[in-house]
Amino acid sequence: DWVEAEFDDLQISEHDDDDSGPLPVVAIVGRPNVGKSTLVNRIIGRREAVVEDVPGVTRDRVAYDANWRGRRFTVVDTGGWDPDATGMNLRIAEQAQVAVQLADVILFVVDATVGATDADEIVGSVLRQSGKPVILAANKVDNQQLELEASGLWALGLGEPYPVSALHGRSSGDLLDIVLDALPETPELKFGEQGGPHRVALLGKPNVGKSSLLNKLAGEDRVLVDPMAGTTRDPVDELIELGGKPWRFVDTAGIRRRDRELQGADFYAAMRTRAALDKAEVAVVLIDASEPLTEQDLRIIGLVIESGRAMVVAFNKWDLVDEDRRYYLEKEIDRQLVRTPWALRVNISAKTGRHVDRLVPALEKALDSWTTRVPTSRLNAFLTELVQATPPPVRGGKQPKILFATQASTEPPKFVLFTSGWLEDTYRRFIERRLREEFGFAGSPLEVTMKIRE
Ligand code: GDP
Ligand code: GDP
Repeated sequence: DWVEAEFDDLQISEHDDDDSGPLPVVAIVGRPNVGKSTLVNRIIGRREAVVEDVPGVTRDRVAYDANWRGRRFTVVDTGGWDPDATGMNLRIAEQAQVAVQLADVILFVVDATVGATDADEIVGSVLRQSGKPVILAANKVDNQQLELEASGLWALGLGEPYPVSALHGRSSGDLLDIVLDALPETPELKFGEQGGPHRVALLGKPNVGKSSLLNKLAGEDRVLVDPMAGTTRDPVDELIELGGKPWRFVDTAGIRRRDRELQGADFYAAMRTRAALDKAEVAVVLIDASEPLTEQDLRIIGLVIESGRAMVVAFNKWDLVDEDRRYYLEKEIDRQLVRTPWALRVNISAKTGRHVDRLVPALEKALDSWTTRVPTSRLNAFLTELVQATPPPVRGGKQPKILFATQASTEPPKFVLFTSGWLEDTYRRFIERRLREEFGFAGSPLEVTMKIRE
């Protein structure tokens, strides 16, 4: 069983199947030369290049993204075992054990033209005891006559053998349908798939310049009437065309009405901010650059972090910032905004219009990062190299291993590391930093969690 661990709050909880969980995993096991790689290629449709070998590294687990009839899952090729290795039976059993630990469904590949070997029997008995769904593929059944051979594999005690030809594709679609049926459900609905203009929450304490910016962006006559506006009572969205595209600024009624009293009350301000963030994909947090950062600024940024939305921080009133103030501002940023080094920053003046045109490229970049998906094979190739160069620190005399990793979701990007032991928080942060260096993600939060094999 896997134990899910959130590094940030150091809580350990049983993994539950919420919609932000990782994709289901199909592990492929089998002896060398039974056709595992051929079958993997057929499953992933050869859309994904096989990762380059890292010299000197035995890569015994490789993961790929797969998609069959619209269902997404991860395929892990647990590799073959070296038949010349000493203690072979043990190694075979271990390999099968790893597959059992990793997988939601196990696809056991046997060469039907050879029949069940001793090694196959060993694997079969490990799999039988696992309690995990096992699908037995009788491979190399290239024609109908060979189907008879496949029926001999009933003897493995794993139920019906499904005859396929990985090489020619014979019945491989049927096999995938059966795999799909055995997968756990993974509901996923994404903002991007909802269509329509991107949604922006314009946030900031009173008097920071929100309505000034909104006016500047819209130019009074360019405000488009939101067809939804009449249907909701108070929080009205505004559609504003920027850079040739409409953007939906959510809950702007409060900004327009300049309801100081309501905005001034912390409790209601936080409620409004949360509600706006709920509807938005990206937040623009306005900060008055001419004054010291305040508690209220930090609270708003805290709410954005909590929401998992992409973030652009706009330092407004830049026309009032002199060299002296600039010096202190940078110090304040270094000291007080340490939690969000990833946020994109623009220095603007809603009054003069200075650099307001930089807002849209920043929003686009932040959204791009927020929706980025790293292909599983690329992610694992990257991590293999990273762990080689800098292994996780030893804990309690044991060296924790990262078995493989997958990006569980986007919006924001969430990565799950499947590990054989506890990884220190500092190591998780190191991985996050390296992920950012390698794949970008400017403007977006990242989540890196682990699942520990018990
Ligand atoms: P792996 O070691 O289990 O990954 O096996 P491979 O995918 O590398 O395949 C081993 C050999 O079997 C290759 O020469 C393949 O072309 C061949 N092979 C794979 N699937 C089939 C099949 O369905 N029918 C036949 N006739 N040969 C196959
Ligand atoms: P809101 O409460 O966040 O909507 O802030 P407003 O847009 O009403 O702005 C509050 C005050 O700050 C107004 O007097 C604006 O004219 C002024 N203001 C807004 N943006 C700027 C700016 O970039 N520079 C300067 N100097 N004043 C600004």
